[in-house]
Amino acid sequence: MNDRPDVLVVGAGFAGMYAVHRFRELGLTVRVLEAGGDVGGTWYWNRYPGSRCDVPSLEYSYGFSPELEREWDWPEVFSSQEDILAYANHVADRFDLRRDMQFDTRIVSVNYQEDEDVWRLTSEAGEVFEAPFCVMATGCLSVPNTPRLPGADAFDGLVLHTGLWPHEPVDLTGKRVGIIGTGSSGVQVIPELARQAGHLCVFQRTPVYTVPANRKAMRADVQQEFRENYRSIREMQQRNMGGVSGYRPLRGARAAPSVPGERASRTGILDLDAEQRRAIIAERGVETLLNFPDVYTDPEANEVANALYRDAVREAVRDPETAQKLMPKDYGLGCKRQVLDRDFFETFNRDDVTLVDLRRTPIETLTSDGVMTSDAHYDLDVLVYATGFDAMTGALMRANVRGRNGQALADKWRYGPVAYLGLQMRGFPNLFTVTGPGSPSVLCNMLVAIEQHVNWIGDCIIWLRETSRTHIEPLADSETEWAAHVNEVAEGTMYTAPSCNSWYLGANIPGKARLFMPYVGGYPRYRERCERETASGYPGFETG
Ligand code: FAD
Ligand code: NAP
Repeated sequence: MNDRPDVLVVGAGFAGMYAVHRFRELGLTVRVLEAGGDVGGTWYWNRYPGSRCDVPSLEYSYGFSPELEREWDWPEVFSSQEDILAYANHVADRFDLRRDMQFDTRIVSVNYQEDEDVWRLTSEAGEVFEAPFCVMATGCLSVPNTPRLPGADAFDGLVLHTGLWPHEPVDLTGKRVGIIGTGSSGVQVIPELARQAGHLCVFQRTPVYTVPANRKAMRADVQQEFRENYRSIREMQQRNMGGVSGYRPLRGARAAPSVPGERASRTGILDLDAEQRRAIIAERGVETLLNFPDVYTDPEANEVANALYRDAVREAVRDPETAQKLMPKDYGLGCKRQVLDRDFFETFNRDDVTLVDLRRTPIETLTSDGVMTSDAHYDLDVLVYATGFDAMTGALMRANVRGRNGQALADKWRYGPVAYLGLQMRGFPNLFTVTGPGSPSVLCNMLVAIEQHVNWIGDCIIWLRETSRTHIEPLADSETEWAAHVNEVAEGTMYTAPSCNSWYLGANIPGKARLFMPYVGGYPRYRERCERETASGYPGFETG
């Protein structure tokens, strides 16, 4: 058995990395256990061509160190996976994080030892680790979902998943490539695969709403302006619904909207006539549809926006039949995470790209050399799964967490995750989750959400020490009341519309309980609630 640190952290993505730094600052000893071979989490695993961030890097970056902000240059406004991973490596080197990290160590059980009052973690290789506190920084999108398709084992070609892309370059030149999935990952990788492959076949189940990705090189004066104003920009992030400041470089400070869809004007799409709607799209692009507040709550307004979106697809795609297949019809804008695209629809104008509509012609089986649908066989050398993740709860379930009396988290969460503030579960004392279900998490700039959670957890552990306490877990009432509140604020939004089947709801995984997992009430409101707990001696928790 290894030496016993104060805190064990599982995962070395941005959450686990910051945890090492912060906990050390607080005088705690810490050990991070990571399944991958190095730091970076999401950006270590998702190396597919086209992988990139949809939050500007000057905002999707740590705010805890002004020196770090000053010294790191971002080459682009929205960074590529390579640049974000380079940043993660720089942070790990600069703060000497790796000395408290152990890589290639997948944790397969996390058990509370009530008699000894410790968390005991066991790795796949059988190594045992113990500590009084355990932080699951295991990520919301870290367990790739590979659907079980009939005949999957029969396929002799190369099989890839966007979320587990190989480290060595994959040469697809001249290859017949198939891809399943048209979510954010699929939309990013499809144009890149089309450029590289001999022929690309896209197997689409649900058409996707996308908005154009704004890809620009970073201007030196913009970066400099951010550096000069970073403290107030970080402050603005703290007050914004999604943790993004909305600071407009070269134009001065202006707070971003504080609710999704809100802009300076509160005009709804239903307040405009058909001509005004067309004019505003011609001027500002299809992404402006997301700026009308009624699109998020009023089904009629949403359908008006959807119809306008379909017109845009019709214009972008030359072949009318292909355009029809690419038009979202059965669910609304705003139900899923916004997808950013570059050349996605245009890719279907290429002669070497085929779109297969799985709603009309489902996959019957994989064969040794391709995919058989209900009407044709598609010969393939390579099959790419861009089929997403068992999101938010997947990594926690796979770690086999057991709390007091041997209760499995999988049992506690059988009908969906219940956690107080997305930070702790009753029955699992001294175990914390970072950006867990019930917190703003994936609805927020994740770097902001991560820092807030790690800071809160660190302060909590120190408070326990300073007040000679050893335990903390939520009161049953706090947990239930918070779960009800999380549901209540999500009700009536497009996120939970009956037609919506998103990974936010667990709907992408067969058999998973349908429950809206992140907290939609906004980051500031959530943060204030967490701060109240800290300031008042954790009244929503049982401590001792
Ligand atoms: P992760 O980065 O997922 O790290 C978790 C780590 O835990 C992983 O390295 C994993 O290997 C490890 N782990 C899990 N289980 C175990 C175990 N049992 N034992 C040992 N190790 C384990 N967010 C945004 O805000 N903006 C974006 O633009 C954005 N783009 C994204 C693009 C992609 C392709 C994906 C997949 C996600 C994106 N996200 C984005 C979300 C992204 O996951 C977060 O921004 C952030 O990187 C999460 O950091 P984390 O440390 O919480 O989790
Ligand atoms: P996703 O959004 O869940 O999309 C998965 C895709 O695979 C969907 O098109 C889905 O179709 C399809 N699929 C799943 N199972 C299938 C099956 N059995 N048969 C056919 N099709 C199937 O996953 P993702 O694209 O990896 O994105 C997940 C999240 O990661 C994003 O929402 C975002 O938060 C993050 N991300 C962000 C970026 C970025 O731009 N920064 C890029 C990539 C990922 P259905 O819709 O029919 O289920």
